[in-house]
Amino acid sequence: FKYKISMKIIVLKFGGTSVGTLDRIKKISKIIISYIKKKYKVIVVTSAMSGVTNELIKKASKISKNFPNSERDVLLSTGEQMASALIAGKLYDLGFNSRSWMSWQIPIITRGNYSSSRILKIGTDQIKKYLKKGGIPIITGFQGLNKENRITTLERGGSDASAIMLAKFFKAKRCIIYTDVNGVYTTDPNLTKKAKKIKVLSYEEMLEMSSLGAKVMQPASIQDAKLNKVKIDVKSSFTNKPGTQIIGRKKIKDINIIRGVSFTKNDAKVSLLGVKDKPGVAAAIFEPLYKNSINVDMVVQNISSDGKETDLTFTIKSDDLLKTKKLITRNKKIKFKKLIVDKNVAKVSIVGVGMITTPGVTYRMFQALADKKINILVISTSEIKISVLIQSKNLKKSVELLHKEFNLSK
Ligand code: ADP
Ligand code: ASP
Ligand code: MG
Repeated sequence: FKYKISMKIIVLKFGGTSVGTLDRIKKISKIIISYIKKKYKVIVVTSAMSGVTNELIKKASKISKNFPNSERDVLLSTGEQMASALIAGKLYDLGFNSRSWMSWQIPIITRGNYSSSRILKIGTDQIKKYLKKGGIPIITGFQGLNKENRITTLERGGSDASAIMLAKFFKAKRCIIYTDVNGVYTTDPNLTKKAKKIKVLSYEEMLEMSSLGAKVMQPASIQDAKLNKVKIDVKSSFTNKPGTQIIGRKKIKDINIIRGVSFTKNDAKVSLLGVKDKPGVAAAIFEPLYKNSINVDMVVQNISSDGKETDLTFTIKSDDLLKTKKLITRNKKIKFKKLIVDKNVAKVSIVGVGMITTPGVTYRMFQALADKKINILVISTSEIKISVLIQSKNLKKSVELLHKEFNLSK
C-alpha cells in the first residue's frame, strides 16, 4: 500500500513577444515566481524571442534554394534554446533553482514530417524528479525529436502544442498561454478596436477560429487539447487581467450564435476558364497539387450553360501560387482557355456552434455584405463556420460589419 503524493503542476507558456527583450524576460520571471509562491510546481515552456524564427527562415532561404527540411528544423529550433537559457539564467540570479531542457533531452518524441511534426510522447522521469526537488524546468517549445533521432519542429506557432502536450503528460491542473493580448477576442484586436475579449470558448470554436486565421492559438495545439481535455487559459503577460478559458463545449451555456470573426490575408485565388465539363476533370487538376503538398482551400465550379465548358475557381496560400501556376500549365491531362490568378483577396469567416441550430445565419452574413456592396468571390461552409472570399481592400470593413451584424461588440 503506497500513498501517491500528487503534485500541483501548472504549465506556463510564454510566446515570442512575452520573451521578446531582456526586460520582458525579467518581467515574466516575476510571473513564474508568483506561481511558485502559490505552491505550484511550475513547468515553463518558451517560444523564441519575437522575430528570431523569422530571421532564421530568411537565412536558410538566402544561403540555399534547396535547404533540406531536416536542417531547416535544426536551424529554426535554435531560437527556443536561446530563450530557455536566458529565462533559467534570470531565475537562477533571483535565487531559484532553474535549468533549461531542450526537447531532445527530455525527450519530446514527435511523428510526421519535418516542420510539421506532432508530439507523440513525452518522457516525464527526469523532470518529475527535478520538480520534487523544487526546481523550475524551462523547456524549449516548438521542437521535438523523431525516431531517426533528429530534431523536428511543430509548425509555426508550435510552442502552444508543446505546452498543451506537456500539460497532458504531466497531468497539469491547467495550461496557461501567456501572450501579448488579454485573451482570445471576437476578432483580432490588432485589426479593430471593436474586438471584445471572450471569457469562455469551446475547443471546437477555438479550433475553427485559429484554423481560419486567429493566430493567438496554433490550430494543432487545440486539437491536442481537445483530445486530451487540457484546460487552457489564454492571457497577457503584459497586464494582470483575467483571460479566456478554453474548455469543453458541454460546459458552456448562454452564448451568442456567432462567437468570432476570423480572417486570413495570405490567400490567392486561381481561376481556370473554359475547362472541359466532364467527369474527372477536377480530379485531374487537383492531383498534382495534392502530390506537391499544396493545400486547396475553397473551391467553386460554375454550372456551364452549354454543358461543354465550365469555369473552376479555387484558393490556395499565396506562397504556393508560383508552384501552382507551373503545375497547372504543365499538366497535360487538362485543357482550359485561360488561367487567372489574384493575390488581392482575403478570407473572412464567422464561427460559432450556435449556427448549427439557428437558421438564417448564412442569409444574414451575405445580406450584411451585400448592403455595403461587398462582392463575395467564393463561399465555403462547415457545421460551425461560414467563410467568404472578398477583395483585400474590403477586409477591415467586412470584419467590422459582420462583427456588428452578429452583436459581437456587446
Ligand atoms: P505569441 O507570440 O504569444 O504566441 P502570437 O503572435 O502567436 O503570440 O498570437 C497573438 C496574436 O494573435 C495577437 O497579437 C493578435 O494580433 C493575433 N490574433 C488574431 N486573432 C486573434 C483573436 N481572435 N484574439 C486574440 N488575438 C488574435
Ligand atoms: N518560434 C516558433 C514560431 O515563431 C514557435 C512559436 O512561437 O510558437 O513559429
Ligand atoms: Mg503564437
